[in-house]
Amino acid sequence: MDTKSEYLHPEMETLSIEDIRKLQLERLKATINHCMNSEFYKKRFAENGLKPEDIKTLDDLKKIPFTTKQDLRDNYPFGLRSIELKDCVRLHSSSGTTGNPTVILHSQKDLDEWANAVARCLWMVGLRPDDVFQNSSGYGMFTGGLGFQYGAERLGMLTVPAAAGNTLRQIKFIKDFGTTAIHAVPSYVTRIKEVMDQQGIDPKKDTKLKILAIGAEPHSEAQRKRIEEMLGVKAYNSFGMSEMCGPGVAFECKEQNGLHFWEDYYIVEIVNPETLEPVPEGEIGELVLTTINREAMPLLRYRTRDLTRILGHDCPCGRHHVRLDRMKGRSDDMMVLRGVNIFPIQIETILMQFKELSTNYLITLTTDGDNDNMTVEVELEDLFTDDYTQLEKLTKDITRALKDEILLTPHVKLIAKGTLPVSEGKAVRVVDKRKVYE
Ligand code: ADP
Ligand code: ZN
Repeated sequence: MDTKSEYLHPEMETLSIEDIRKLQLERLKATINHCMNSEFYKKRFAENGLKPEDIKTLDDLKKIPFTTKQDLRDNYPFGLRSIELKDCVRLHSSSGTTGNPTVILHSQKDLDEWANAVARCLWMVGLRPDDVFQNSSGYGMFTGGLGFQYGAERLGMLTVPAAAGNTLRQIKFIKDFGTTAIHAVPSYVTRIKEVMDQQGIDPKKDTKLKILAIGAEPHSEAQRKRIEEMLGVKAYNSFGMSEMCGPGVAFECKEQNGLHFWEDYYIVEIVNPETLEPVPEGEIGELVLTTINREAMPLLRYRTRDLTRILGHDCPCGRHHVRLDRMKGRSDDMMVLRGVNIFPIQIETILMQFKELSTNYLITLTTDGDNDNMTVEVELEDLFTDDYTQLEKLTKDITRALKDEILLTPHVKLIAKGTLPVSEGKAVRVVDKRKVYE
C-alpha cells in the first residue's frame, strides 16, 4: 500500500464526473434487476406498471417511487431483502420511537464494501496505518460502533473499541495508548474535554490527538471550530445512516468544504419534501439516496428526511464526488413555534458566537397560558464572573442575538457547567412539553 498517496482507492476517488455517471448507470441497472428478488420491490414495480428495462438513463430513476422509513417498518423485519436470509451475515436495527424498529441486513460483501468506504474516508483526512484510532461511539445496534471498527481496521490502524461513556477510562486510553484519532458524537467530545479539565490534562500537550471524526448528529460549523480549538485537532464531519449501512456514506476531505458523498456507492438526489420534485441545484431540500453497491438489501430512492443542499462537484482535493452542505437537521427536527419554523442548529450557531458559553444547551418548549414559549438553557464555559450585572448583560445580549435569528424572544437561562444531562448517544437538544390541542 502506498502510504503517501492522498487516495486509498484512486481509481474510484478520482473518477471524472462523466465516468461517475457512467458507472452509476451501470450499477443502478444491476441494482434494479437484483431488487426484483425482493418481494417488496417486485410488488412496488408491478403496482406502478414499471419494469426494470424502463430505467434506461439516470434520469429515469425519477420513475421509481420513493422508499420510506414507513416501508421498512411495514415490512419488518425481512421484507425488503433481495437475497436469501441464509446468505445474510449481519443485521443492524435503528431505534423505533414509534412502532416497529427498522432492520437492515448485510451480506459479507456488503460488510466488506462498508469497511472499504469507512477506510477510504479515514484515509482521506490523513489517517495511516501507524495511527491509533479510538472509537468512542456506542457499539451494538448503533452502526457507529462496528462501522468505524471495521473501517479503521481495514485501513490498518490499531483500533481501540472504547465504546461510549466512562469518560475517565476514555482519557486514560487516549494517554496510555497514544491515541491520535477519535470518532465520537460532537456532544460527547465536549464532555471528554470537561473531564480532561477537571483532571488537569491539557489535550494539546499531554496527548497525541490530531484528528477527530465527528458526526451522527447535526452540529454547526461554530461547534466544529470550538472542538478543534479546544483539543488542538482537525475535526471532520462524518455522515451516515443505518439504512445506507452506517458511517462511510459521506465525509469531509481536508478542505472541509462540505461532505463528499461516495457516488460509486450512492446516487444522490435533493427533492422538495412537500412536492417531492427535484429542487434546483444549490437549494436546500430533502436528501434522497439510492444504494448502487449493496447486495442484501438495496434501497431505491430512500427518503432520508435530512435537509441539505448540493455545494458542488469539484474540489481542490481532486475528487469529483458530489459535495453536500452539513445537515441542517431532519425535517422532523423542525420546531414550529407561534408559526415560525426553527431548527435547533440555528440556535446553536448563535450560542457558539459567545465565548462565555459551553457547547451544551437544551431547548424546552412549553405552553404557558395561551402562549407557546421557548426556554434555552445553556451552560457557562467557566464561571467567568459572579458579577450579577455582567451575567444579566450577557443574558440580554444572547436573547437579542437569538431574537434576530429566530424572530421570537426566547427565555435564556445561563447555568453552571456540567448541569445538563449528557447522553452517551446522540444529544437530546429539544424537549417539547407543549400542550397538544386535538
Ligand atoms: P436513527 O435513525 O435511529 O437516528 P442512525 O444512526 O441511522 O439512527 O441515524 C442517522 C441519522 O443521523 C441521519 O439520518 C442524520 O439525521 C443523522 N446524522 C448522521 N450523521 C450526521 C452528521 N454528520 N450531521 C448531521 N446529522 C447526522
Ligand atoms: Zn475534497
